[in-house]
Amino acid sequence: RESKGKLPKYPGLERYSLVEKMGDGAFSNVYRARDREGQFEEVAIKVVRKFEMNSTQAPPGVLNPEFEKKHAQKTVERANILKEVQIMRNLDHPNIVKLVEFSESRQYYYIILELCPGGELFHQIVRLTYFSEDLSRHVITQVAKSLEYLHEVAGVVHRDIKPENLLFYPTPFVPTRNPKPKGPEDEDKADEGEFIKGQGAGGIGVVKIADFGLSKVIWDSQTMTPCGTVGYTAPEIVKDERYSKSVDMWALGCVLYTLLCGFPPFYDESIQVLTEKVARGQYTFLSPWWDDISKSAQDLVSHLLTVDPEKRYDINQFLNHPWIREADEPTYAAH
Ligand code: ADP
Ligand code: MG
Repeated sequence: RESKGKLPKYPGLERYSLVEKMGDGAFSNVYRARDREGQFEEVAIKVVRKFEMNSTQAPPGVLNPEFEKKHAQKTVERANILKEVQIMRNLDHPNIVKLVEFSESRQYYYIILELCPGGELFHQIVRLTYFSEDLSRHVITQVAKSLEYLHEVAGVVHRDIKPENLLFYPTPFVPTRNPKPKGPEDEDKADEGEFIKGQGAGGIGVVKIADFGLSKVIWDSQTMTPCGTVGYTAPEIVKDERYSKSVDMWALGCVLYTLLCGFPPFYDESIQVLTEKVARGQYTFLSPWWDDISKSAQDLVSHLLTVDPEKRYDINQFLNHPWIREADEPTYAAH
């Protein structure tokens, strides 16, 4: 973890003090920050660079294809950022990260977000190796609830559902033994304990979807019609809308598979082979890892990892599957 001293200062972000870096990508850095003025004490700030580092100005009057390309790239970038922000602005659901504010400086865009203090679900899978069926259900039901809202209410498809984009709030932790390590030999036991029952054993409370960078509006939530002129919408557009929802359902299946066993359904070192496997829907419930996982859970996964999008479960079929409905865990309080 970076220390506070090493964190950069961004112009226009003076009201926040950056605490630590929480994530980074090719174009964005995400920081945890304290807000001295706002409704939230702490926020997440996604800082997106507007330009590529070494972009140089084309001399006046000289046609520079390289410059043109970079300039075009920047324009696309801006449209994308504004789209991401615009989509988030219209969303309001307990399992979706809230947009707090959007601003920009000469060099950066700043997307201020509700902070999810637990970070990525991805790291939790790595830490626990895999999730119990109860914990998997606790997590995937919340993801599904947000997809139900996106698909059925907001008219939005996310298109980038994956463990890195699923964030969470931790639950209160009750240490059962060795709350403080006494000697070096006790060090690895210090974390053992129990999470308060009924609040998502495993330390995961509320789960939220983040990263709307690839998401798309499929229909107008005001008029409840497909985007574009009503009555003139071609059948393939109407179909396309259904297909794009099914893209999120496939991803939901990949996430559920991964939660239950700790590795993804499709993997290969070679991108080409991997692409082939996905195209054919070539996956297995690999023994011994899947031996003790219920047939009901496997049934649900297989209805999501169905190659034909017409036959794949939609969000309502998912939420009505026995494996989801048989849950005896109380619904978790919203954050
Ligand atoms: P990118 O488009 O670069 O993938 P994301 O929006 O997914 O950007 O953010 C990148 C990473 O930053 C996430 O995977 C997560 O680790 C962290 N992050 C993003 N938003 C938040 C948030 N609201 N709370 C906590 N961590 C966050
Ligand atoms: Mg992301």
